[in-house]
Amino acid sequence: MSTLLITHPAFLAHNTGPHHPERADRLRAVLAALDDEEFSGLRRTEAPLAKPQELAHVHPAEYVRAILGIKPAEGELAMIDGDTVMSTGSAEATQRAAGALIAGVDAVMGGTAKNAFAAVRPPGHHATPDTPGGFCLFNSVAIGARHAQAKYGVGRVAILDFDVHHGQGTQAVVEPDASLFYGSTHQYPLYPGTGAARERGIDNNVANVPLAPNSGSEEFRVAWSERILPALDRFRPELVIVSAGFDAHRRDPLAQLQLETEDFTWISDQLLAIAQQHAKGRLVSALEGGYDLDALADSAAAHVRALMKA
Ligand SMILES: [Zn+2]
Repeated sequence: MSTLLITHPAFLAHNTGPHHPERADRLRAVLAALDDEEFSGLRRTEAPLAKPQELAHVHPAEYVRAILGIKPAEGELAMIDGDTVMSTGSAEATQRAAGALIAGVDAVMGGTAKNAFAAVRPPGHHATPDTPGGFCLFNSVAIGARHAQAKYGVGRVAILDFDVHHGQGTQAVVEPDASLFYGSTHQYPLYPGTGAARERGIDNNVANVPLAPNSGSEEFRVAWSERILPALDRFRPELVIVSAGFDAHRRDPLAQLQLETEDFTWISDQLLAIAQQHAKGRLVSALEGGYDLDALADSAAAHVRALMKA
């Protein structure tokens, strides 16, 4: 079975305006890297639109309607908050980003792919059920987790997040529900300021390890090996979902962690091993952040290479 790559041209039509770090060139860089001959074994499919009722597994129906109803005129931008922007194409993009997670879950649960990578934008992990923010509109990974539970009766879904920012939106969904697990390393202090180690969820189903600026490979690997992976192993996920942000790379302009591209191979291998042990290998990963185009392309390629080798 192969690795599924899910993307869509609509993700490039989410226009955030000039000088915004979360820009279409990010996805172009990732897709250009995955165009290499070495990735010819990927199965590729277009991201469908998530249905409003699928979005409503995480977001209140009125929030779904409000976001999908924001359609600025061509060339105009709607400022959702200080750094979250919507253009003409943004509603479709965020609806397809969630749809990519749904398609990935369908593929691994249905046995048509061993694992999947959703190359999407906008990212999603900062969107809480009722508040957009941090470039995020719908929380795609949480929507994927809820879809797995609703459609396939999956009992325990884990979401692991190695983006340099804490996914407080995902944590808001997970923390009251012991059928979900959330584990994250992130730089602290940094936006959004959440993710203290004492935030542990309802049943130790949240594992946060904040890392000081300038932490590198060693601190990152110790955090996962000694704190998050043992808790994840105890949780015994039946499906693993990954918030794959690559902005902890040392070249990223938005943060000060010092990871190397090889660290993304390492964490990918660790998460794939847990998926293999507990979840029949079922893993669906989604692009979150990563703002240096070369570091992002190299790191996403390393991640997908690991998925293909699993
Ligand atoms: Zn980030």
